[in-house]
Amino acid sequence: MRCAELEPLIEAIADGTIEPSPEDSAHLSSCPTCSARLAEARRIEQWLAAREVPQPAPAFTAAVMARIGDEKWQTERVVDIGFNVFIAAGVLVFIAFGAGLAWSLGFLTVTLDSEELLRAVFSEVEGRVISQLQTTAIAAVVLTMALALWWWAEEAAD
Ligand SMILES: [Zn+2]
Repeated sequence: MRCAELEPLIEAIADGTIEPSPEDSAHLSSCPTCSARLAEARRIEQWLAAREVPQPAPAFTAAVMARIGDEKWQTERVVDIGFNVFIAAGVLVFIAFGAGLAWSLGFLTVTLDSEELLRAVFSEVEGRVISQLQTTAIAAVVLTMALALWWWAEEAAD
């Protein structure tokens, strides 16, 4: 009866968390089972206390924080580069559309011909070129924004 009551307390008595009551002490000194349990618990307690707790190197935290800062900075740099690449791609698309349109309409080749011919061709295609350039510019801007937005959303989701 007394042994069963005392058993859950043995560990706490061994590590000094609780003081045994006078009755507990009397039982512990007279009962071989309980005194053996207490001795074993104290032995384990001492072994645990004697064990060396590994300490991190003094600079460990600083090194980890510096590393995290580095990686964050590199991620931000990658984000910046990616953004610039997308903007540059959009601009290139716009230029390519414009140049392609001008080329297909003969706008670029006639610059090599006489000014009169240029003027004639220009006046003929001017309205069409301007309206199509506007359409192309809007398309290029929308495409660039869509790409940038999509890319940004991808980044934000990570
Ligand atoms: Zn006992």
